[in-house]
Amino acid sequence: MFNKILIANRGEIAVRIIRACKELGERTVAVFSEEDRDALHTRLADGALCIGPANSADSYLNVSSIISAVEIADAGALHPGYGFLSENAAFAEVCENSGVKFIGPTSQIIRLMGNKVSAKKEAERAGVPVLPWSEKPIEDEKEALEVSKKIGFPLIIKASSGGGGRGMKLVHTQAALASSFHLARREALSIFGDAEVFLEKYCIKPRHIEIQILADEHGNVIHLGERECSIQRRHQKILEEAPSLFVDPKLREKMGDASVKLCKAIGYVGVGTIEYLVDEDKKFYFMEMNTRVQVEHPVTEEVTGIDILKEQIKLAAGHKVLMKQKEVRFKGHSIECRINAEDPNTYVPSPGKITELYVPGGPGVRVDTAIYCNYKVPPHYDPMIAKLIVYAETRRDAIKKMTSALEEFHIEGIKTNIPLHLKIMKDHDYIAGDVTIDFLSRWS
Ligand code: ADP
Repeated sequence: MFNKILIANRGEIAVRIIRACKELGERTVAVFSEEDRDALHTRLADGALCIGPANSADSYLNVSSIISAVEIADAGALHPGYGFLSENAAFAEVCENSGVKFIGPTSQIIRLMGNKVSAKKEAERAGVPVLPWSEKPIEDEKEALEVSKKIGFPLIIKASSGGGGRGMKLVHTQAALASSFHLARREALSIFGDAEVFLEKYCIKPRHIEIQILADEHGNVIHLGERECSIQRRHQKILEEAPSLFVDPKLREKMGDASVKLCKAIGYVGVGTIEYLVDEDKKFYFMEMNTRVQVEHPVTEEVTGIDILKEQIKLAAGHKVLMKQKEVRFKGHSIECRINAEDPNTYVPSPGKITELYVPGGPGVRVDTAIYCNYKVPPHYDPMIAKLIVYAETRRDAIKKMTSALEEFHIEGIKTNIPLHLKIMKDHDYIAGDVTIDFLSRWS
């Protein structure tokens, strides 16, 4: 299709992409920082090019180095993975102008959906429900006060360019509004380089449930059901599953239809995810769209039997969506635990050398990772070092399988959050499916 694909990422997702490319008969070129010379993605790709020093700003986020690598490798396409440059519209535009196919939607769509204000407007236009909000960016505290009277407290101040669970401020009272507003703008500017914020109603104890989308350039869009992602720490997911116990077939159809409608309305092409908050009355509200493959895509792969990475590459090459909506079948239950190199109690990252490693296996156990024995987990990047994914006929069996796999997983030399995941697997509320976004904070 593309002859050669350059993978502008590292870690488990780079390895995952290389595997998908191999199965599709595509040659691969990895890029790596000086720190990642011995990384698995560097070794597994057909070729590899160094793009700069360890610091991501100088390597995995360095647009000119990556574009030079594309030219040297003569790659026909570039896969951005998740994180790094995957949702950077300016980078996608550079790819478009350099004649390399960016595996993802167009820069125009990334720009539209990457800004939370324009994305919400598109959702509203497509008839997808959103929480009461300011309906535009808020420029000063007077305006913030007026809007707060309309939407009420508690409310959340969000950075339009926010992401990764950062750039949000929860405000409980009118007295705290002005100071939170200024702080939110300052933080948004320093983290995202864009001070723009807006106000949104804060939903009490909702669930985070998202819909996976596949869309082709011929106008066909299907959804692959939902993922339950309510187990979060500081608004960052740490465990996901499919299906959600809370979603009945009727709600699945409604959320799926809304997501398909939105993608059709904006002319979306590729894989994507629409994220929703769902309240206790099963009302759902559009939160944002991720225009890339997500960390948690494997749970959907497990319950649908569809290889999302391979489909993503095929869609980028102009292929049609592989099946019709009514042909999508859901079977069994899948759970994913994000294994992080961090202290399970303090959450402080724990980089260093892995001195002993035993990876769990057996039927229904999948480990997506780039670590190996004697590998040194660098301190420069995301602390997630593996994804442990299980599949079983029922949720009950999936929990048992995950417990046993977590107990088998043996990583020496660094600390990991495996004990935290084991605690979740044994938690009565978790077992009962009583999971809302405050789940982990109930423990502290
Ligand atoms: P990001 O782009 O940083 O991931 P999101 O808008 O996706 O930000 O929100 C991340 C998380 O923050 C959600 O999963 C949810 O837990 C929480 N959150 C966001 N908006 C609201 C809201 N209006 N009410 C309650 N929780 C919210």
